[in-house]
Amino acid sequence: CGIFGVRGHPDAAAVTQLGLYSLQHRGQESAGIAALDVAGQPHAVKRMGLVSEGLLEDEAELLRGGALAIGHTRYSTAGSSTLENAQPVLARSRGGHIALAHNGNLTNATELRFELEEAGAIFQSTMDSEAIVHRIARSNARTPEARVAEALQGVEGAYCLLIVIGETLVAARDPRGWRPLVMGDLNGAVVFASESCALDIVGARYVRDVEPGEVVAVDAEGVRSAFPLPRLESRKCVFEHVYFARPDSRIFGGSVDRARRALGRQLARECPAPGADLVFSVPDSSNSAALGYAEEAGISYELALIRNHYVGRTFIQPSQGDRDSKVRVKYNAVREVLEGRSVVMVDDSIVRGTTTRGLVAMVRAAGAREVHMRVSSAPITGPCYYGIDTPNREELIAANLSLEEIAREIGVDTLGYLSLDGMLASVPTGPEGFCHACFSGDYPTPPPTDPDKLRFG
Ligand code: 5GP
Ligand code: SF4
Ligand code: MG
Repeated sequence: CGIFGVRGHPDAAAVTQLGLYSLQHRGQESAGIAALDVAGQPHAVKRMGLVSEGLLEDEAELLRGGALAIGHTRYSTAGSSTLENAQPVLARSRGGHIALAHNGNLTNATELRFELEEAGAIFQSTMDSEAIVHRIARSNARTPEARVAEALQGVEGAYCLLIVIGETLVAARDPRGWRPLVMGDLNGAVVFASESCALDIVGARYVRDVEPGEVVAVDAEGVRSAFPLPRLESRKCVFEHVYFARPDSRIFGGSVDRARRALGRQLARECPAPGADLVFSVPDSSNSAALGYAEEAGISYELALIRNHYVGRTFIQPSQGDRDSKVRVKYNAVREVLEGRSVVMVDDSIVRGTTTRGLVAMVRAAGAREVHMRVSSAPITGPCYYGIDTPNREELIAANLSLEEIAREIGVDTLGYLSLDGMLASVPTGPEGFCHACFSGDYPTPPPTDPDKLRFG
């Protein structure tokens, strides 16, 4: 998911809407904004679909003019994709309103929900995030940030949170720091965003990252920071650099573009493709890695696959019997580039292998003589419990097949993955403190007690 928040701007909701455009890649299922109006009353608008599909247009008047707003783009990892599960969550409690936007996935959500339900709580959604709202509402601590800190004791797993309590904006990041969260300044207004590209779009200046385990409160008196949670070794998600974040962002203190170039260059060193005529990417997520590969290998970079940018996730799914048509709706091959050539196809990751197989068939149909696939991450052998929607082990191709079997299954002449060490050595802030569990099996937490229930709500 993507989260964005601003306090101290004369049209906070409009700034938030703009910020969400740059966080659309982090979630396309639903989008929402919660804001205080000029009278300090809270409102929330939520929509299924994209930010550009009309979010804010109808209810704009409700939201306009207030100084405090938070927003969310949703990609469901816990709870199904329905409007009731869209965020921000807005609740009215005995202490006033609470609005919350969450990026991440809690690993003890089942237990937290059970405990609250036993105490009489009623849930309106199947999201793990709603439990945090209940816990904040129950806290008797004095300040908003103390209520958040109390609510987060015993909450396990991944979260970056933006929370409105009264007229205070609170930002919190879990002690492992799985997901990114940056802080910026917009003419004196304080801005928070999942990625720095959302600061750029609103014209804010990057100030710093919110640190793992940090709770930041912003109100009329200024910015306060505290570290109220038990310290743990950091586990920043390496897959943010590999695939999820935008290359024009800086996250975890480093550039995503530089990370992807380095991943591509390391891939070229580890898995060369002697005699290949050209390198191309599977747009857009592997563009930077493919450039890095081409630079290091000294092979020309070509645009061999064209992606249709107008196809969202909402297009009608073709029938099961015609798997390749889904790929054809999104991509097409350029025959003039591929015909008769030996080619290196670079992608950032292979998950199920179904898209890849369709793409390889398409590249061959356009005349490629040899297809050498190179992947700028290690094989994905396990699910993610921390906010990326990778499928269960049974569906992960690299959890079930050997390298040779995968190559045969996807139809390539040769296949090379980046090594785990090579991947970790390529991320900009050094290999320390990263989560690589879905690649290595080295999970920083026990699995959630009921991961399927979490996933499908
Ligand atoms: P596959 O061949 O496994 O079906 O698809 C591989 C493609 O999926 C790659 O191009 C990769 O960039 C993309 N990918 C990796 N992780 C995700 C994800 O979480 N969501 C989506 N929509 N695509 C992903
Ligand atoms: Fe990222 Fe993989 Fe860790 Fe999930 S398991 S947080 S995708 S590195
Ligand atoms: Mg891709």
